[in-house]
Amino acid sequence: MNRTRSLILSWFSSFGRSFPWRSTDNAFHILIAEMMLRRTTAQAVARLYSDFIVEYGTVDQLASANVEIVSTTISSLGLQNTRSKHLVTTAKIIQSDFDSLVPSGEKDLVSLPGVGKYVANAVRNFAFHYSVPLVDGNILHFLNRVFSLQFKNAYNEQAWSFMNTFGAPHKPQFYFGIIDLVSLVCLRKNSRCEECPVRPVCDSSLKGMQKRKESGC
Ligand code: SF4
Repeated sequence: MNRTRSLILSWFSSFGRSFPWRSTDNAFHILIAEMMLRRTTAQAVARLYSDFIVEYGTVDQLASANVEIVSTTISSLGLQNTRSKHLVTTAKIIQSDFDSLVPSGEKDLVSLPGVGKYVANAVRNFAFHYSVPLVDGNILHFLNRVFSLQFKNAYNEQAWSFMNTFGAPHKPQFYFGIIDLVSLVCLRKNSRCEECPVRPVCDSSLKGMQKRKESGC
């Protein structure tokens, strides 16, 4: 596991993607990004994120925003009606219940609309530097390919428990590395195994090699 983690971190330092939400300590900006990143691609978020932050980058700005205008602004992400309601309501709650400061506790974070365990832990890890694991669909896909692990969904306790061990000490770059590997290399169709840093330790790739050997290809 240590070797796999090192391979991911080393690959990320050379080939990882840069996004504005990865290079800020502003917890509110990170929370906005993580809420936007659910069920869409990082590229789609990147296209509108910086302008959104200029317009709605403070708790007061977003709390007083018109939900319909926010919805139109983020329509390219999909789920814009729900997402815009969640964003504006979350800002209002942070303003009224948390003195306009993003809370750092998991319980407080998951009490916000549109914030589940993944987003809460992403904010705790990336903004507040808590050593906490993350599990989402991309991570499950990666675990399936590399370790042949099949977890039912991202709420599965065993998946969280596995990542608690495998991901420790839970550096943000480790999670960014997995996210980028799944987006760029370990694609759901036509994985680019020949470019993959974890190929030497990947179950899926090793099984493929074994099959090719057996069939004489
Ligand atoms: S070696 Fe292939 S299957 Fe394994 S993680 Fe890399 S890209 Fe995915």
